[in-house]
Amino acid sequence: MYAPPVQRLILELGKLPGIGQRTAQRLAFHLLRVDAEEANGLADAIREVKERIGLCEICFNLADEPRCRICQDARRDAELICVVEEPGDVIPIERTHEYRGHYHVLGGALSPIDGVDPEDLKIAELLARVEASDPAVREVVLATNPTTTGEATALHIAAAVRERAPRVAVTRLASGLPVGADLEYADEVTLGKALAGRRAL
Ligand SMILES: [Zn+2]
Repeated sequence: MYAPPVQRLILELGKLPGIGQRTAQRLAFHLLRVDAEEANGLADAIREVKERIGLCEICFNLADEPRCRICQDARRDAELICVVEEPGDVIPIERTHEYRGHYHVLGGALSPIDGVDPEDLKIAELLARVEASDPAVREVVLATNPTTTGEATALHIAAAVRERAPRVAVTRLASGLPVGADLEYADEVTLGKALAGRRAL
């Protein structure tokens, strides 16, 4: 129906989450209409993140160096680790200004139905951090999403930490977060309260 380059663009755009066939077409026609500089800006931005952004070797947050900015920051409390599902979950927690510890990004949540098992997430890496003596972690805050998979992940990690490092406190964000919603959509005040009121698991 369209020239092959246009078809390819529609196909690639349609692979993005939440973009159906119609939206992919609309975006493609938009890109055909704008000037080359603007369209190439998008292409360059995509290429640059793929070339320059990787995962922090300690916490698996996004980083443009071997270690992310938070892991490099000596003013932050390295004995406190907040466990989240995705890199996007770090931002709303940072915005609350309630948290001054480090993070650990799992890369998803446990979901046996979808084939996501413990070894598919950075759980072994978390346990290694928790078992290490320097820094001696004193608390793990489980900030996985208040969804079925997020809760299952929190319970799994809590049991594993208790077994491997019983001296480490395990806490979960206080209720008050909308059940079933993702952390990234929680407002700062609610999330700040949930952090301040975290309870032992
Ligand atoms: Zn890091």
